[in-house]
Amino acid sequence: MKHFPIFLAVEGRRIVLSGGGDAAMAKLRLLMKTEAHLTVIAADIAGDIHKWADQGKLRIIARAMEPGDALCAALFYAANEDDAEDARVSAIAHAEGALVNIVDNLADSQFITPAIVDRDPVTVAIGTEGAAPVLARAIKADLEERLPTSLGVLARIGKTFRHAVDILPMGRKRRDFWTSFYFGTGPKALADNGEFGVIPALETLLDTHVMTTAKEGTVDLVGAGPGDPELLTLKARNALDKADVVIHDRLVTGEILELARREAIIIDAGKEGFGKSMAQSDIDALIVSHALDGRHVVRLKAGDPTVFGRLDEEIEAIEAHDIPYRIIPGITAASAAVANIGQSLTKRGRNSAVRLITGHDTKGYADHDWKALAAPGEVAAIYMGKKSARFIQGRLLMHGADPATPVTIIENVSRADQQIIATTLAELEPTLSKADLKGPAITFYGLAPRDAAAQARQLKEFA
Ligand code: SAH
Repeated sequence: MKHFPIFLAVEGRRIVLSGGGDAAMAKLRLLMKTEAHLTVIAADIAGDIHKWADQGKLRIIARAMEPGDALCAALFYAANEDDAEDARVSAIAHAEGALVNIVDNLADSQFITPAIVDRDPVTVAIGTEGAAPVLARAIKADLEERLPTSLGVLARIGKTFRHAVDILPMGRKRRDFWTSFYFGTGPKALADNGEFGVIPALETLLDTHVMTTAKEGTVDLVGAGPGDPELLTLKARNALDKADVVIHDRLVTGEILELARREAIIIDAGKEGFGKSMAQSDIDALIVSHALDGRHVVRLKAGDPTVFGRLDEEIEAIEAHDIPYRIIPGITAASAAVANIGQSLTKRGRNSAVRLITGHDTKGYADHDWKALAAPGEVAAIYMGKKSARFIQGRLLMHGADPATPVTIIENVSRADQQIIATTLAELEPTLSKADLKGPAITFYGLAPRDAAAQARQLKEFA
């Protein structure tokens, strides 16, 4: 950008133009739109310019320019259509401190005059740095067509009404009000009742906006279940049906995303364990920013959002902005997996408690009460346990767990490619490594599939 566009305050300031012919008139037509004091200096001056002088629009000095003529001028135009004369008068104006423009001489000009679309007080200035005047004219014509002439009138009236609109809270509510005014109520009132109709229309519009609260954003923190769409709750489905934005985890299946409202924006905030991914703080910010824009955000998490879902961090971010939210529970991987091996998470006489544990947390392998877990009859569902299997196996055996304790790994729970691997604590590794699972997997410590035949089959396959 060789020329920096600005809007210069010229009200009450001097603009001096040297020249009295066609080039001078063209510039003067533009300059007369301003509230500057115009002075035209030339020995030979066209009739139209005299007429404008008679109308009080400018002042004439009917002689060639002399030193002192451009004193205190903000801008100076050399429009003599004579290179030598333009150079002479420009040198004077320059010495007297004015910014100088020489008509049709870009190289020696200190500023250029853009093509202007005038909807005062809305002014659009178009410049091409002299490269493509045709383009500037085409853009100008296009904008002239697009911006109704009433825009200027509306902007002027709107300006007088700005204070009254302070009653609306800043931001979206005020923006909504002005958008309705400029693109709906305003033009209509002007067309129906002329300028006098605009203020009453503004008042009515403001009343309506004060009464109606703008659409408030909300967040649903929704459990998507383990993958089978039929394992979604009805509440989760309804939320997806109404969502403006769906921000989902890597583990949420395409089939479930299909159920989101067709117009919804779908955002993958997928995270790989240990790997690089969207930072939690970025996800929090994403949820909040969409909600603050008045959207219904569905934060869709695999399984149940309250189980290893970093739910609390998201809630804190949402609460910090006073955004209303709901938590919609889902079927956690352990519930779906245990059903698919025909077992219960708790069983009278076997285990009266079940632990949901994670193989690793943000710091690495997670430590647990291994001694308690090693006792007979204990059951634990291990999430995110693929990489940490050898670590968990070692800890449990070290704390005296029976090597024959059943262990069942279920990959891709509830999906078409679900796989059940039944083994024992002693065999957990290398069985798991050999299986080389690619999908999400949950490991049950202390549970074998009810179907013994299946167990035997799987054992053979992965031994
Ligand atoms: N909130 C989720 C858990 C998120 S932690 C829930 O309630 O299920 C991610 C871990 O969940 C995975 O590493 C895996 O151990 C388990 N998981 C999630 N979906 C699974 C699925 N369909 N099959 C097997 N394990 C799953």
